[in-house]
Amino acid sequence: MSKDSVRVRIAPSPSGYLHVGTARTAIFNWLFARQNNGKFIVRIEDTDVSRSRAELIEPILNALKWLGLDWDEGPYFQSKRLERYTFYIARLLESGHAYRCFRTPEELEQKRRELGKTREQKLDKDWLASSPEEEQQLLAKEIPFALRLRIPKGETSYNDLVLGRLTRQNEEIEDFVICRSDGRAVYNMAVVADDHEMGITHVIRGNDHITNTFKQIHIYRALGIEPPQFAHVPLILRPDRRKVSKRLGDKDVAEYGDEGILPEGLLNFLCLLGWSPKDDREYLPKDELIRIFKLENVNKANPIFNEEKLLALNREYIKNCPDNKLADLAAPLFVKAGLTTPQRLESERDYLTRVIGLLKERCSRLTDFISQGGYFFTDEFHYEDEAVKKHFNAESREFLRRLLSGFEAASPFTKESLENAVNSLAAQLRIKKSQLIHPTRLAVSGTSKGPGLYDLLETLGRDEVARRMRKAVAYLETHGE
Ligand code: GLU
Repeated sequence: MSKDSVRVRIAPSPSGYLHVGTARTAIFNWLFARQNNGKFIVRIEDTDVSRSRAELIEPILNALKWLGLDWDEGPYFQSKRLERYTFYIARLLESGHAYRCFRTPEELEQKRRELGKTREQKLDKDWLASSPEEEQQLLAKEIPFALRLRIPKGETSYNDLVLGRLTRQNEEIEDFVICRSDGRAVYNMAVVADDHEMGITHVIRGNDHITNTFKQIHIYRALGIEPPQFAHVPLILRPDRRKVSKRLGDKDVAEYGDEGILPEGLLNFLCLLGWSPKDDREYLPKDELIRIFKLENVNKANPIFNEEKLLALNREYIKNCPDNKLADLAAPLFVKAGLTTPQRLESERDYLTRVIGLLKERCSRLTDFISQGGYFFTDEFHYEDEAVKKHFNAESREFLRRLLSGFEAASPFTKESLENAVNSLAAQLRIKKSQLIHPTRLAVSGTSKGPGLYDLLETLGRDEVARRMRKAVAYLETHGE
């Protein structure tokens, strides 16, 4: 196959938001398409009317876009292609590969119960199909029927691009329904028709679809169509080894965005769930992934979702993201937290960018900029209790008062002149610099941790620093020993 003919797809069902599992599979498909100059197609599998919710389609597409997975075709909708499925079903019926089954769901259920069979075990073909005479009578009476695919004897094998050669005995597969009695194609039938008509060359999907793959191969063969290649990728497990699932409270892609994970960080992290570059590298930006991703390196074993690793990677992406871009991303969070307003940001924009630059080495999520940098935008903070015990007392009140005069004389108000002011006061009082640094930091930020003090002071600016130091002195006058 020539390289430029690769066509792959992601086929989410809109029964939930874009889940990390589907997102990871989309990433593998997208990388494979991009590195082969192929096409990445989005198909919405919305034929299950009882579970599909139209209002979820937009959020799913938005989450794919947010992750940077641009698609070349689609979204196609299965619900708009029902006639195409009917076309292939008719072909299968005409060629004798499918037959009518007049058994009602109740009869099927009862037969299974009598035989002690589970839903997975097959029922007798002769019982499922009617004799030609019986069939004529039932048709004449307009009894509803489903269509089943006739599974031949023997065994079926294919080469999975991840799992190697897989073989199943055909007798393990019942003559399954391809068309329900209401005329609607089942999932496996629709997928075969779509993958064929959309020219899909590689079906890359979760390994929970292997049973479907064997069923689909039977449909392809019955239609006389060459199946695409299949690659079954491992499923993502929670730390308790259960499959990640919305029902267990696992998050969808948009929630990670809301929690301040960068799309580049999530993409990199998800890509490492089930694939590795076969060296120790973990920080792998998108372009590098396109270059080195290999389907052959997809692991067979199901990986475990480790949120700490996500945070560590996200921290790297935050560190390497330009301040200006981070400020764009974090600005709405500062507004939402009530620390600024869009109007104020018109003049505070450069200030925000500076604040971001100071904090970025310390943040694993965009939301950390709020928890760690709120004091840059408001002086209505509490002094941390522990820090107060350590650094606020009658002596430090005096130090702050003296340092305040030193800062007022500092000109220009830069980190160098502020550092000089601290150094000369420490020398004059014969104290350690830290005896000035800690109370000052606490006075201006309410906390004992943060970026370098002089950067912090310079960024806050002369007036704000003076105001906050005076406020701390006043506080110490009423609260100090
Ligand atoms: N709609 C299926 C799912 O969400 C996709 C199956 C496939 O890729 O063929 O799991």
